[in-house]
Amino acid sequence: MIQQNPVLRVCISCRKTYDRKDLLKITKDYKQGIMLQKGMGRSAYICKSKKCYSDSKIKKKLQKALKTFLEPEFVEIFEKEITSYNNNPH
Ligand SMILES: [Zn+2]
Repeated sequence: MIQQNPVLRVCISCRKTYDRKDLLKITKDYKQGIMLQKGMGRSAYICKSKKCYSDSKIKKKLQKALKTFLEPEFVEIFEKEITSYNNNPH
């Protein structure tokens, strides 16, 4: 019997460990810039708890984790994405 271990990642906001599937991945793609749930490059993870993604410091934390500057529009896209993610459990 093969048992698959979940891939665990830490939320950059609450620092709790979650299954990769339950986190939103933000990647600084080396070609295309910031991407959600895809891309290759430095990545940060955030859990779907409202407390985390609506944290006023989340942008700063992301910038630090990704070592990049995030456009103000990014936060808007990111919030939309995570909200729709929460509304579509799969
Ligand atoms: Zn969190």
